[in-house]
Amino acid sequence: MRLLPLAALGVLLLASAPRTQVPASPFPWPNGKRAAISLSFDDGRPTQMDAGLPVLAETGLKVTFYVVPSAIEKRQTAWRAAAQAGHEIGNHSLMHPCTGNFAWSRQKALEDYTLARMDAELEQAGLEIKRITGVLPTTFAYPCGQTFVGRGPTTTSYVPLIGKRFLVGRLWMGEVANDPSFVDLSQVHAVPMDDRELAALKPMLDSAAGQGRWLVLAGHDIGTQVEPYTTRVTFLRALAEYLSVPERGFWVAPVGTVADWVAKQR
Ligand SMILES: [Zn+2]
Repeated sequence: MRLLPLAALGVLLLASAPRTQVPASPFPWPNGKRAAISLSFDDGRPTQMDAGLPVLAETGLKVTFYVVPSAIEKRQTAWRAAAQAGHEIGNHSLMHPCTGNFAWSRQKALEDYTLARMDAELEQAGLEIKRITGVLPTTFAYPCGQTFVGRGPTTTSYVPLIGKRFLVGRLWMGEVANDPSFVDLSQVHAVPMDDRELAALKPMLDSAAGQGRWLVLAGHDIGTQVEPYTTRVTFLRALAEYLSVPERGFWVAPVGTVADWVAKQR
């Protein structure tokens, strides 16, 4: 057996070392952008129309609203206007089922669900959202970020259902920006933006730009109060200003728009 030259050995060692570096060719975001940022808001809460739409119009941010049909039924005009203003309307299920350890979800606990029931409700939710807003959603956000049905040995993931029905399944309470070359679009991570100011998220934004990533932010109510589950208007204004500086290279677009781009590059 011939001994490998030292240089070749070095290459081999490098190749087997864990990759912590930025890839040599960054992911091709449109127009030479360095990272993608998507803002999403869940549940179809009234504050998203009352306080949200005006500040989004003022800042030019286009976002994704993940709605439950029963929550938006009474505000059809506003939700149609949101869709027509260029915001994405996504599916957030029919009943918002989560673990029954939340008392409010005990009667619709994921522990008691079956895949067949989930599938039927996803279908119905889509049709009702289309009836109310005029839009049939192509992306989905998992209620409570939970992806299972059943219990113990019969627990099943419903991620495959989402993968069949939707371009995107968005998670919740994530800690990481998505790597567009790797991410499973059926489990896109999302970082909370409720009850935070820009300073808290700047490191993640900058690191997303440095690594060519797709950072999805997720929130609930929109308002001026400092409360849990409320994305502050002051935060949205500061964020929009930060993201708008061209040298920083951020592409801001709804979840479905970015996912379309990611899917086309593969
Ligand atoms: Zn929700």
